[in-house]
Amino acid sequence: MVPAQRLLDIPPYPFREIAQLKAKAIAEGQDLVDWGIGDPDQPTPDHIVEAYQKEIWNAEWHRYDETGYGDMAFREAIAYHGRQRFGIEVDPKTEIQVAAGTKDSLALINWAFVNPGDIVLVPDPGYAVYKVNASFAGGTPYPTPLLPENGYLPDLSAIPAEVARQAKLLFLNYPQNPTTAVASHEFFQEAVRWALDNGVVICHDAAYIEIAYEGYRPVSILEVEDAKRCCIEFHSFSKTYNMTGWRLGWSWGHPEIITALSKMKSNVDNGVFLALQRAGAAALRGPQKCVEELCRMYQRRRDLLVGGLNSLGWRLEKPKATFYVWAPCPKGFSSAESGPASTDREAGRGRGREAESSESLSSALARALLVDCGVLVIPGAVYGAHGEGFFRMSLTIEADDPEARIKEGIQRMRDNLELEF
Ligand SMILES: *Cc1c(COP(=O)(O)O)cnc(C)c1O
Repeated sequence: MVPAQRLLDIPPYPFREIAQLKAKAIAEGQDLVDWGIGDPDQPTPDHIVEAYQKEIWNAEWHRYDETGYGDMAFREAIAYHGRQRFGIEVDPKTEIQVAAGTKDSLALINWAFVNPGDIVLVPDPGYAVYKVNASFAGGTPYPTPLLPENGYLPDLSAIPAEVARQAKLLFLNYPQNPTTAVASHEFFQEAVRWALDNGVVICHDAAYIEIAYEGYRPVSILEVEDAKRCCIEFHSFSKTYNMTGWRLGWSWGHPEIITALSKMKSNVDNGVFLALQRAGAAALRGPQKCVEELCRMYQRRRDLLVGGLNSLGWRLEKPKATFYVWAPCPKGFSSAESGPASTDREAGRGRGREAESSESLSSALARALLVDCGVLVIPGAVYGAHGEGFFRMSLTIEADDPEARIKEGIQRMRDNLELEF
């Protein structure tokens, strides 16, 4: 069976090598500290599950959602959330589209707007979904480098005029996966101005907008004046309410962008189960204490992990948002048995071996952490060329005592790796 060229053209699934190494380690009975995938380990809050349980018996919800945009009561709850949380006015009739999580919208927005040859500006490092679907739609993904010295914000003024002219979409994602960077109101203002000047649609992925620490409240791009003239923003229940498996989210923004997305979506699927939409309304209208508690839990893990890494020689600042830690690879590393990294670089694993093969530094580090320490991290190169030299650790940890696992992982790194910064 030969699949379509568009499928053959995309690079192999970036997590494949990691997944293979992980499967092998587990098959060999290795006890892994898993800082890999970002998937909340806590259950969905009871009041949301209970709301769903109740709604599921209502036969009215057992049929197609024929609205094309989503249940009106749910869209009204989303508009209410917009007022409460961001102080924005969004019209539930024309400016909101219900989605099965955000991933489907991130895909469909490309299909709705990109003609063959159009440029789609994507963050590098960033979530691969934007890029892959831009290619599926016949577009050309164009990476915008996110550099630490710019706070991992794209330098829009550096985008060549010719590229800007051909660009159709600009993907942004703040708080950002994988760098944990956040964006200010001022940055969004600048982005909106740039997009209006260049006739580009901004697609803002706000999946982590509620996962933030110490009172920091990430902003919605729709808070910016004129944003509704050129933006769509994607929201998800996945991270906020531990609902990755449920598949629920929404988009809001310019009515014409919402209409185009809705038209595309109704040709691809028939909307989200209505009982789930009602449960989503209950989540948005209900108490938000569960979100605060979730953030406090991640915050404790964040402090343990960042503190642990800094005790090993890193100099990391605590991320303001997301449940990740993004860290630079040390200059040198090797397994402790083979001697100090500074005197015996060629021996053992880690960087010594990297010098002999085409394996990137971040992959070599991830491999050394896995093989020498039984610790799983994601090499930054997986997220794009500018992710190289970094690695990502997730604070979502499936274990009876996640905090103990963080300490265990740090201890293993202390015992088994020689690090040079
Ligand atoms: C987890 C994540 C999402 C959310 O995906 P859903 O489809 O809503 O589950 C979106 N964008 C990024 C960058 C993510 O990391």
